[in-house]
Amino acid sequence: MRSKAKVVASTSGVRDELMLERSCHARIRVVYLLVYARADELIKTAKYIATPGKGILAADESTGTIGKRLASINVENVEPNRQALRELLFTAPGAVEYLSGVILFEETLYQSTAGGTPFVDVLKAGGVVPGIKVDKGTVEIAGTNAETTTQGLDSLGSRCAKYYEAGARFAKWRAVLKIGAAGEPSELAVKQNAEGLARYALICQENGLVPIVEPEILTDGAHDIKTCAAVTERVLAAVYKSLNDHKVLLEGTLLKPNMVTPGSDSPKVGAEVIAEYTVAALRRTVPPAVPGVVFLSGGQSEEEASQNLNAMNKLEVLKPWTLTFSFGRALQQSTIKKWAGKKENVAAAQAAFLARCKANSEATLGKYGGGAAGDTATSESLHVKGYTY
Ligand code: 13P
Repeated sequence: MRSKAKVVASTSGVRDELMLERSCHARIRVVYLLVYARADELIKTAKYIATPGKGILAADESTGTIGKRLASINVENVEPNRQALRELLFTAPGAVEYLSGVILFEETLYQSTAGGTPFVDVLKAGGVVPGIKVDKGTVEIAGTNAETTTQGLDSLGSRCAKYYEAGARFAKWRAVLKIGAAGEPSELAVKQNAEGLARYALICQENGLVPIVEPEILTDGAHDIKTCAAVTERVLAAVYKSLNDHKVLLEGTLLKPNMVTPGSDSPKVGAEVIAEYTVAALRRTVPPAVPGVVFLSGGQSEEEASQNLNAMNKLEVLKPWTLTFSFGRALQQSTIKKWAGKKENVAAAQAAFLARCKANSEATLGKYGGGAAGDTATSESLHVKGYTY
C-alpha cells in the first residue's frame, strides 16, 4: 500500500508533467496564433497566386546571376541596366494579364520605373503580387560529395517583416539537391534541406508572407526519368513530413518543384511522358491542402517548358492543385536576346515576353497549341551545370 506522502509526491509529479505539457502547448499555440492570426491573408494570397491561367515570373536573379545574363548580350552588370531589364518585363503591355506574381531580388523590390513609379506599385496595379527571394544561396554540407544546404535563416524574421512593409506578400527559398552516382541525394542532404525549407516556411508565415517551398533537384547527370521520379518522390515526401512537423499552414504555401525528366546527359523523352511521371510523383506526395504547384524551368528551353506544363494540364487524372509556372530562364531568354540592351529593341523584346506569358498561361489550362513566337531562341536549351540563382 502506498503512503500518503508518496501519493502526494506522485500526484504533484503528474501535475508538474501536466504543467510542463501545458506550457509546451502554450508555446506551440503562440506559434500557431502568429501564423493563424494571418491565416486568412496567407490562404487568400496563395489561392490568388494559384489562379488557373496565371503564373509567376521569377525575376529574382541575384546580382551575380543577372550579370551572366547581361554578359550574354554584352551589357554591363550595373544598376541602371538591371533596372532597365526589370522595367521592360514589368511594363510589357498585356503581359500582366497572364501573371499572378513576380519574384524580385531585394534590390528590385526597392527600385522604380524611369518615370519614378515604384515597381511594387506597377505590379500591384496590374493585379500581380510582389514576391521576394529571401535565401542567401547554398553552402556545401561537410562530409558529402559536394551536396548543399541553403543559408539565410539568421535574421529571416526581421527581413520578412521589412519586405512585407515594402509590399511583398510571398517569398522564395531555393533548396538544391542533386542526383549522383554515390546514391545522392544523401539522406543527410534530404533531411537538412527539408528542415531548412520548413523553418523558412514558418518564419515567412509568421510575418504574413506565403512561402514558396522550392526543393529543386538539378537535372545534371545521365540518370533516366525513373530515377528522377524516385528521387523527386523521396524528397517531396521528406519535405511535407517536415512542413507538418513544423506546423506550417499548408493552405498558405505553394510548392515549386522540378518537373520529372531524364538527366541532362540522357536522351530526351516526350512531353506526355514527363507529364505522367511528374503528376504521379505529385499525387503520391503533395497534400491537396496545397493550392498550387508552380514549376521551375530548370534549364529546359522556353518551348519545352511550355509543352511539358501543357501536357500535365491535359492529363485526365485528379489533380487537386493548380499546376502552373514560376519560370525564370524559360520566360526571359528570348526577351533578353531581343532586347540586347538597346532602347530601340524594347517593344520587340516586350512582344517576345508577352508571347511566352500567353503560351504558359494557355499551358496552365492545357490549351497551348505550341510554337508561340516560333523563333530559334525559344527552343534553345538553357541548361547550365550546377546552376545557381
Ligand atoms: P528557372 O525557371 O530558370 O529554373 O528558375 C526559376 C527559379 O526561380 C529557380 O529558383
